[in-house]
Order: sequence, then C-alpha cells, then structure tokens
Amino acid sequence: MSRIAFIGLGNMGGPMAANLVKAGHLLRVFDLVPAALDAAKAAGAIVASSAIDTLAGAEVVISMLPASKHVEGLYLGDGGILEKIPDGALVIDCSTIAPMSARKVGDAAKARGLAMLDAPVSGGTAGAQAGTLTFIVGGDDAALERARPVLQAMGKNIFHVGASGAGQVAKLCNNMALGVIMAVTGEAIGLGVAHGLDPKVLSQMMAVSTGRSWATEVCNPWPGVLENAPASRGYSGGFGNDLMLKDLGLAVEAAMGVGATIPLGELARNLYAMNKQAGRGGLDFSSVVQLVSDKAG
Ligand code: NAD
Repeated sequence: MSRIAFIGLGNMGGPMAANLVKAGHLLRVFDLVPAALDAAKAAGAIVASSAIDTLAGAEVVISMLPASKHVEGLYLGDGGILEKIPDGALVIDCSTIAPMSARKVGDAAKARGLAMLDAPVSGGTAGAQAGTLTFIVGGDDAALERARPVLQAMGKNIFHVGASGAGQVAKLCNNMALGVIMAVTGEAIGLGVAHGLDPKVLSQMMAVSTGRSWATEVCNPWPGVLENAPASRGYSGGFGNDLMLKDLGLAVEAAMGVGATIPLGELARNLYAMNKQAGRGGLDFSSVVQLVSDKAG
C-alpha cells in the first residue's frame, strides 16, 4: 500500500484514481472541478483542498492533466508543487504533453533530488475504467521498478521506451496513427453507407478483416454500431477532439524538430481542427466522421 497524491480527476484520472483505491492504496486527490472531487470521494479517496494539500505524507505523486501548460504550471509555476513534494517521493506524470515539457519538468525534479517518470497512457476511458491501460514510460529503470506496482493497479501493459521524454514521443507516434485511422475508418464506413450498406454489418466485416482496428472494434465512429462507443451516446465522454488535435499538433512539432515528414499526420491535424471549427471540439474525436462523411449523424 502506498500513500498517493493524485492531481487531475477528469475522464481518465477519475477512474484511474478509483482503481488505485480499489487496489488498497491511500489516495489524497485534487481537481479544479468540484463534481470530479465528489466522484473521487464516493470512490473512497480523501479530497484535498489544493494540489499542495494532496502532498501530506505522499510517497508517490501522480498527475493526469490536459496539456503541457497545465503540467508545467502544476509543478513549476507560481506556487508550483515541486518544491513541496516530500523527499524521496516518486513523481509520475501520466498526461500527454510535449516531450520537451516532460524533459523540462523531469530535469527540475532531478535537480530537486526526486525521481520522475513520464508515463502517458493508451486505452481510452474504457481502459481507464477497466484498469487495462497501456503505460508508455520514459525515465530510468530504478524509478520504473518503484512505479510498477502502482501502474499495475491501473493498467495491464507497461512499456519502457527510453529516458525522460521518450514516453511522450512514443505516445505521439501511437496517437498520430490513431488519428489517421479513425478519420479514414469514418470515411470508409460513410462510403459504404452512401452505397446503401448497413454500417453495422460493414463494421463487423471490417473488424475481422484487414481493415480492422481499435476504431472498428472498440470505438466505432458510426452511431448505433457499437452500443458502448461514444458515437452511440452523442459522442459524449471518450477522448475529446481537442485532445486529439493537441496530440497531432505535438506530433507535427516533434516532426519539425527532427526534420521528419508526416504528411498524413499533418492532414489529420487539419481534419480535427476543422471538426473543432464545426463546433465539435468538446466531443469525442470519433465525431470527425461527421466531417469526412455527409451521411454520418
Ligand atoms: P479531462 O479534461 O477530462 O481531465 C483533466 C482534468 O484535469 C480536469 O478534470 C481538470 O479540471 C483537471 N485540471 C486541470 N488543471 C488542473 C490543476 N491545475 N489542478 C488540478 N486539476 C486540474 O482530460 P482526460 O480525458 O482525463 O485526459 C487527461 C490526459 O490524458 C490528457 O493529456 C489526454 O491527452 C490524455 N489521454 C486521454 C485519453 C482519453 O481517452 N480521454 C486517453 C489517453 C490519454
């Protein structure tokens, strides 16, 4: 059992924190949104009055925030928590952020004598709830070995991909592929529907054929195909279009940094930007189907 400070209880952080409580860890949690705190309290966590207040007695500090600016603000900003984290505690940031930001915060933690991992996740809100996330970890071996029992309470796969910041690079590679695959899956189903095909039958066929992917099997973008997919509940919950747009922007930045060409990644970034302009920024990213198929929605 570890004493864990957990900051950021959104679509992902909320269920991740609940799984840590279930595994017997003692959690002090904080979020800016009162409803998220109520849900964490109901799950058995102790609600703190601020991010700093989560740190009392913490052996592990976990953050799950939207983007680089939130993570840098939390640890390094005015009144940032880094200086107040108890000596010897392990810091794990599970947010998806720029590799450069992850290295900046990781270096500052190291300068303070604290071990820090970037450990972004894959698996979506369903994976967060089921405790089956994949953790994509950057940092040193010793820190990962300390983190392992905590990560295992929230996920089933742990990949150590390199030093500080490497977890974020690998996560961006995964999400760039996901963003492209989701858009083209929506386009493909839309083509079939325009020819009078049943989207359910078409998706079932694709899910056992070479066009299969997470987008056909788990998070199908077509309403009514999969009961539990965001598409079947008005694209609510899930992985927000704005978060996918952020990740693709980070991928473009990361490509520019090393002179790599990512034409499909750049095209996908534009599609999710247009989907945001169409008013769907807060919806699940699979709502991009409404942009690429005039038959959807
Ligand atoms: P979210 O917007 O639902 O949750 C973020 C939470 O952080 C919010 O509740 C917000 O109030 C809180 N927050 C922001 N600043 C804070 C601060 N200073 N102190 C305390 N709380 C603060 O986002 P999410 O869907 O949970 O995603 C979190 C991260 O995980 C993102 O980086 C995202 O890219 C990544 N991610 C999301 C998914 C997904 O399917 N949703 C999947 C994989 C990775």
